[in-house]
Amino acid sequence: MKLKSFVLFVVAFSNILFGWGDQGHKLINNKAVALLPAEMQDFTKWKDYITLHSVDPDNRKKDDKSEAPKHFIDIDFYKEFNAGKMIENKKDLVAIYGDSMVTKQGLLPWATLDTYNKLIQAFKDKKKDAVLLYTSDLGHYVGDGHQPMHTMLNYNGQLTNQKGVHARYEIKMVDKYIKEIEASITKADVKKINDPFQYIFDYIANANSVQPVLLDADLYAAKSAGSNDNDEYLRLMWFKTRYVTEIQFNTAVTDFASLIYSAWIEAGKPDLSGIQ
Ligand SMILES: [Zn+2]
Repeated sequence: MKLKSFVLFVVAFSNILFGWGDQGHKLINNKAVALLPAEMQDFTKWKDYITLHSVDPDNRKKDDKSEAPKHFIDIDFYKEFNAGKMIENKKDLVAIYGDSMVTKQGLLPWATLDTYNKLIQAFKDKKKDAVLLYTSDLGHYVGDGHQPMHTMLNYNGQLTNQKGVHARYEIKMVDKYIKEIEASITKADVKKINDPFQYIFDYIANANSVQPVLLDADLYAAKSAGSNDNDEYLRLMWFKTRYVTEIQFNTAVTDFASLIYSAWIEAGKPDLSGIQ
């Protein structure tokens, strides 16, 4: 019994923290590399690697205790965010809330920026292994930052009696409709981002704002389908969230591509054919 409870706990907990599931992360990394402008065409030879390794940060969690908080931020935990004045500097936030509380609420924006800065350095150093590692990781964190449930305090519906909504949405529904999501990815302009830190916080705030759509859809689909664990539930969940889900995926792809492009420009546009 004890072992069974433990296994259930591990399964439930790991589901909570995955973020778009394997298929969603692979799609974002793959489409972002494909979107890079002509001057970065040499980069696309690494597309398969970056796609395959899009889920490495999730897999690292079991060996590295510091990894899990990098995948989310319960940003509406902070009264400053709810008042439209988020404290974005981590040191300032820690001064008010303490290090362990800030870590507990998640470190996603700072982990994303840190990975972005490491990618710039990897481009400067012309180190292929580091470029591949930090690009793959960056795509994962950007993907998580566009999954609304990785940006909110009620991340698993636990505060509104909707427990399990996280996995129902980001894994069960997304996996079932991944072909439709893929077909929705449209070519968008990749741009140089001048203030990546603010950019990251902005897309996280934007993802957070989508939460009522997801939670309302879950209630509606479960009620209409008579359960939250059948195909009818997933069909209705998709029907009600398709629009915002496709927007989140499209912006994740474009934002990730823009961050790769910006890191490369910041590094002085190194010749990618010369990176070994
Ligand atoms: Zn993740």
